[in-house]
Amino acid sequence: SGPATAALVASRVLDVPDFPKPGVMFKDLMPLFADGDTFRQVIDGIVAYHGRESFDVVVGIEARGFVVAAAIAYATGVGVVPVRKAGKLPRPAYSASYALEYGEATLEVHEDAFTAGHRVLVVDDVLATGGTAEATLDLVERAGGTVAGFTVLLELAFLGGRERLAPRPVHALLTV
Ligand code: AMP
Repeated sequence: SGPATAALVASRVLDVPDFPKPGVMFKDLMPLFADGDTFRQVIDGIVAYHGRESFDVVVGIEARGFVVAAAIAYATGVGVVPVRKAGKLPRPAYSASYALEYGEATLEVHEDAFTAGHRVLVVDDVLATGGTAEATLDLVERAGGTVAGFTVLLELAFLGGRERLAPRPVHALLTV
């Protein structure tokens, strides 16, 4: 159930202060990925929430989103499309740049990544300010996909990502 899955995420996240820079509390979900029972229950919880019929393909955001996206794709029998940091994709790609606290980041997706009209579930580990997710949603739409929703293990609500992505649906197993 929802509360049980939330408790599971809470029990396997490590808070790392001042990483990658002073003032940031990094939420490290690698202990959750590393525990087989927990990882399976968390992926099953995400699949149960969205159902197997609500999306046609899964997008994972580099790098921790790849881990979660591939598991959801395998569990539901759909494909997985990576959204990558600039310069990693070998063929023609769309780019989206967005502001970070200091400087700028760029994400890319192959131009032919999606079948027109396919419903795309976008996946990451953590939703913070929503800048990364917003850039990814833009890329998916430019490449011809339709965003079915955005799903994360952990949402940092005080950073306002959900509001930034509205009205697109955002699901988090745990919101803090
Ligand atoms: P955002 O601010 O929502 O664009 O987050 C940027 C990216 O960095 C996302 O892919 C998150 O997974 C990751 N991220 C941002 N803040 C944190 C945090 N406090 N702990 C762990 N990951 C984070």
